[in-house]
Amino acid sequence: MSPVNLGTLMGKTTETLAAAGIEAARLETGLLVEHVTGFGRMAALGAPERAIETAASAAVAKLAARRTRGEPLAYLIGTREFWSLDFLVTRQTLIPRPDSECLVEAALANRARLPDRPRILDLGTGTGCLLLALLSEFKDATGVGVDIDAGAATVARANAERLGFSDRARILCGNWADCLNSGTKPGEFHIVVSNPPYISADEWPDLAPTVREFEPPRALLGGTDGLNAYRQIAGRLPGLLAPGGLAILEIGARQAHQVAEILKFEGLKVQKPLKDLAGHDRCLLATLKKHDI
Ligand code: GLN
Repeated sequence: MSPVNLGTLMGKTTETLAAAGIEAARLETGLLVEHVTGFGRMAALGAPERAIETAASAAVAKLAARRTRGEPLAYLIGTREFWSLDFLVTRQTLIPRPDSECLVEAALANRARLPDRPRILDLGTGTGCLLLALLSEFKDATGVGVDIDAGAATVARANAERLGFSDRARILCGNWADCLNSGTKPGEFHIVVSNPPYISADEWPDLAPTVREFEPPRALLGGTDGLNAYRQIAGRLPGLLAPGGLAILEIGARQAHQVAEILKFEGLKVQKPLKDLAGHDRCLLATLKKHDI
């Protein structure tokens, strides 16, 4: 491969991504090139003639080729923004989605009912995005994030460290709340948040290939009807929530009614679902009955 300059590399890579039908080709190119060379779109505008080493342009070409085969950008560059924080992301973790930010908003909307130093539990924490976004807003809160995947727990721990929350966040590896049995008291958490796997067996084949072929199935598939994780989590909530505490669960677009029924069966009081950016039901809030909102 002959040597290229930054401007040419940006142009060629944008063409490659656009030809593969990638909508935000220019933006994604900027991020890929910056990941490899340290120079992004602004640098390319300011100094397009900057020489790029052959090895670097070859590395960009390799990543662009993987991108055209559907691999998500976040896995290629290893990070993804969520709630204006930069999260490390690997193939062991689900990629944080903007829609999940409505869970953080739901917690903030209920700030008045929470103590000054709330204790937060994030079940299936993945990158740690929900727990750490909440810790960024609730400055005196402490939290526990749990993930069944040891690789994901390692990523969440690294994110807690690099975002400066390791003194307030504990990351455990285990199956939902099972690993909390020792060391935590019943009714300890003021916020229990979770974005569990909720894709049903029927929905799986229709999932976008970039999701289905690259993201961890264990973080997506919720059993035959997509509701297995809710059944497991709901049964634990009465023992986990502090009086006045709040469970905040992400749900699939058509699951509000069924998940509400599962929660009610466990004696919880459920609020009207909250919508995501696309207007789909995305978040359910539940409380202990005697401490409803
Ligand atoms: N929202 C994700 C998707 O559409 C699913 C995430 C999940 O199962 N928790 O791919």
